[in-house]
Amino acid sequence: MIKFLDNKLFRYLSFFLFLNSAVLPVNSSSALAAWGIKTNGVLELRTKSNTNLKAYFQKANQIYGDRFWVDFPGELKSPRTIKGNGAIKEIRLGKPNKGKTRLVIEFKEETYLKPLNWRMVGLDKNKWIIKLFNPKKSFKMIGEGLVENRKRNVKANQNSNYKKKSNYGYLKLPEVKRNKFSVVIDPGHGGPDPGAIGIGGIRETDVVLEVSKIVKDLLSEKGVNVFLTRKNEIDLDLPPRVSFANNKDADIFVSIHANASRGKRRDINGLETFYYRGWRGRSLAKRIQQQILRVSPGSPDRGVKQGRFYVIKNTRMPAVLVEIGFLTGRLDARRLEKTTHRKRLAYAIAKGILEYLNRVG
Ligand SMILES: [Zn+2]
Repeated sequence: MIKFLDNKLFRYLSFFLFLNSAVLPVNSSSALAAWGIKTNGVLELRTKSNTNLKAYFQKANQIYGDRFWVDFPGELKSPRTIKGNGAIKEIRLGKPNKGKTRLVIEFKEETYLKPLNWRMVGLDKNKWIIKLFNPKKSFKMIGEGLVENRKRNVKANQNSNYKKKSNYGYLKLPEVKRNKFSVVIDPGHGGPDPGAIGIGGIRETDVVLEVSKIVKDLLSEKGVNVFLTRKNEIDLDLPPRVSFANNKDADIFVSIHANASRGKRRDINGLETFYYRGWRGRSLAKRIQQQILRVSPGSPDRGVKQGRFYVIKNTRMPAVLVEIGFLTGRLDARRLEKTTHRKRLAYAIAKGILEYLNRVG
């Protein structure tokens, strides 16, 4: 459907840098004294006082799952690997180069991490915490050494930090003025045209119709007037979709599709959003793309692009066409067949739309 582009498999994100006063001499032993990942998904670290920490996150690629790591000054004596459980595949302690210690936490696939919301909090001169994930199933604590500093009331401190953070609610949908906006959602294909057929016979028409209906419900709850170009498996050509949107005089038009790669390559996954022209269309596309990526960890960001698709070219309002993943891709297909993931995508699309309506109108 869409031509193959180089996947940005190594989307690299380095996002914390702590500059405290003293840097330890390179030859000293590791500044990492103890660490633990608690049953609530919080990583706790105890270090030497006033340690410089650097933490990084890297999205999954073909070799590794999502990884979070922290570098500490001072060389680790004995590199080791510790088996994980639940969402965590394994923990590795190593020396990436002379005089350094690295603690790597590698996650399993299908762990929906939200690294953009992560905050490393220094509780003390020698203690750090960061909430990495919300365990879905029971997660057994992993760790080495004693992190807890019994002299201080660390618990109280920690709770207050997390209370603030929980308000971030990355899926919380923004409010917009009720009954002000109308949106046309266009589930691609339909009827005799199933669209892309993916692994195990999964059909684009079914996936995008379900996602579109959930988007409609979510937006309706926020007081947006939503119109679907189709509600079931009917044969619907492209021009009627466009005239439908133009006649409704909708504020925006969002066409929802799923991708297939040429040759049905299972290693091609990813999300992309197209607009035809104008900063409004681009802004809408960017917001949707950003949100769908957040619920699709490990799936490559194929970007926001200009595309000359009929439905976005001929509609008169800001219009985008979103490709929510490759039905032919191993990673995406396995997710797209599940209603839970379709709901997440619908939430993400609704959030992008509401953000746009909120800011741009
Ligand atoms: Zn399609």
